Amino acid sequence: MEIEKIDNWGLPLKKPFIIAGPCSVETPEQLDKTVAQLVSYGIKIIRGGVWKPRTRPNHFEGVGEIALPWIKEVKEKYSVQFAIEVAKPYHIDKALEFGIDMFWIGARSTANPFTVQDIANALRGVDVPVWVKNPVNPDIGLWVGALERIHQAGVRKLGAIHRGFSNFNDRVYRNSPTWQIPLEFMTQYPDIPMLNDPSHISGKRELIASVSQMALDLNFDGLIIESHIDPVNAWSDSAQQLSPMALSDLIRILQPRTIAIDDPFLKSQLEIIREHIDEVDRELLEVLGRRMKLVEKAGEYKKHNNVAIFQIERWKEVFETRPDWAKALQVNPEFVKELFKLVHSESIRKQEQIMKDKLRENVGDQ
Ligand code: PEP
Ligand code: MN
Repeated sequence: MEIEKIDNWGLPLKKPFIIAGPCSVETPEQLDKTVAQLVSYGIKIIRGGVWKPRTRPNHFEGVGEIALPWIKEVKEKYSVQFAIEVAKPYHIDKALEFGIDMFWIGARSTANPFTVQDIANALRGVDVPVWVKNPVNPDIGLWVGALERIHQAGVRKLGAIHRGFSNFNDRVYRNSPTWQIPLEFMTQYPDIPMLNDPSHISGKRELIASVSQMALDLNFDGLIIESHIDPVNAWSDSAQQLSPMALSDLIRILQPRTIAIDDPFLKSQLEIIREHIDEVDRELLEVLGRRMKLVEKAGEYKKHNNVAIFQIERWKEVFETRPDWAKALQVNPEFVKELFKLVHSESIRKQEQIMKDKLRENVGDQ
């Protein structure tokens, strides 16, 4: 995808970009007071939901288009840009009428290609930056697909927002960050700017600082954070919004990281460490190769003696012992458990191949 460099989007921002504002626009007073304070702390792009997608009906669904003239007024009064969520062609038409500067596509919309295509069609010929949130489910293909649809409509000021993924039993996060997905995205599409939304990942104020710092450590381009003049009494997402003052404290403590290492000494030290890592990875692969040869040998044995490939007792033992061994070696046992699930499926695949070859030989014999 050919993307316009974010430096050419005409944004009043320096990296790391911060977009902040309420989950929802509620009243003209709430909007004015929130924006006034955010601006006094240096925020230049405001977010605010006008139409809110809610998981269940009969919850506050945003005040709708009556918010658009209020937004127009604060934009003029405080010289800020304003971003809202759009989910239907009608939202886009109305928002453009009131000079909204930037759109984002919500996580529930990204998950639905019909919706994304309708939005894309409505964006044809519109020169407004569009941010695409990750879909609610951890599917990088759906996320990329949504960006491609918007790109095909001619939008070139295009970015992605990582807001975490729905989960069944994550006790810490409202939406699990599953960082490997945005990292994979950034590796595949280094030109697409990526923001992190620590508010919807965290679900609670206490976690926002650590999620934000993690995003900066991973070289995200910026953050989109919910901030409300009176967070506790917010009409939506009250547990996760920060007051403008708390937001400014957070921005002050965050440590931006520089990706380029200019100091030649630091650079050469890092190169030495990376060479060691390369060596160790080669050793790891040699050991893995030896393991797979043994798996093949066991497969041949099972084949000759008509033993089933999958023996539950054996794998129970493997899954129980390896995390313990890992702990003794100060390696994260949870990581090792996941690793051995992969090793297990590859071992089964290899042995199945051996059995299939046998079947073919037998059929051939007859
Ligand atoms: C929002 O940003 O207010 C929102 C509804 O987010 P998401 O689409 O990530 O749930
Ligand atoms: Mn919200």
